[in-house]
Amino acid sequence: MKRKIELFMVLFLLMGAIIASYKLSEWTADVVKDKVNEIDKSNPVIVIDPGHGGEDPGKVGINDILEKDINLQISMKVRDLLEEVGIEVVMTREDDKVPDRKKEDLGNRVELINKTRPTIALCIHQNSYTTSDIFGAQVFYHTKTAEAEDIATMVQESLRTIDPANRREIKENDTYYMLKFSEVPTIIVECGFLTNPTEAQKLTTEEYQDEVAFAICEGIVKWLDN
Ligand SMILES: [Zn+2]
Repeated sequence: MKRKIELFMVLFLLMGAIIASYKLSEWTADVVKDKVNEIDKSNPVIVIDPGHGGEDPGKVGINDILEKDINLQISMKVRDLLEEVGIEVVMTREDDKVPDRKKEDLGNRVELINKTRPTIALCIHQNSYTTSDIFGAQVFYHTKTAEAEDIATMVQESLRTIDPANRREIKENDTYYMLKFSEVPTIIVECGFLTNPTEAQKLTTEEYQDEVAFAICEGIVKWLDN
């Protein structure tokens, strides 16, 4: 009972915060919750992989923003949201500690994914470009599973609702390490460009991170519901 009240409170607060700040489609947190309850029987498991960490900062954005930190912050928000609606989540990292050797680090992550055999593996990253005008979240997927393209499509659609100016589309990629060696439907969400001043600044705020996390969660739940 206590758990139920807690969950209700969280969803209520979350929904309030989201409705207050953002224009949502018909997908409110309550709808997400209802949809997840419907698909609970199949026990979806999501592995969330916050990119980089430790010695590897990932991209370094304007104001010395480190990609690894933004990745972890958004990943934790996605985790919390998915868990609150009853989806089991396994994280490849929950802090800044990863092996110093990149190959060992990536190998460990892929091994965890392939051992866990989740419904979806979700890698969270931030993008960069040589010019500062480029922006917008974009989802990458591997062509080896039919599911990955559909998941990528759903998540990309949701991400576009938080920034109508974002015209980016999903992109296949068969060479990124995580996509290449993962044996389950896997997507990489590049949440935004750390080289674009506006987007980089937004990505450091709780509000925008919440928005991005919700969009990712929404896309995943929509796919699970299909
Ligand atoms: Zn990265």
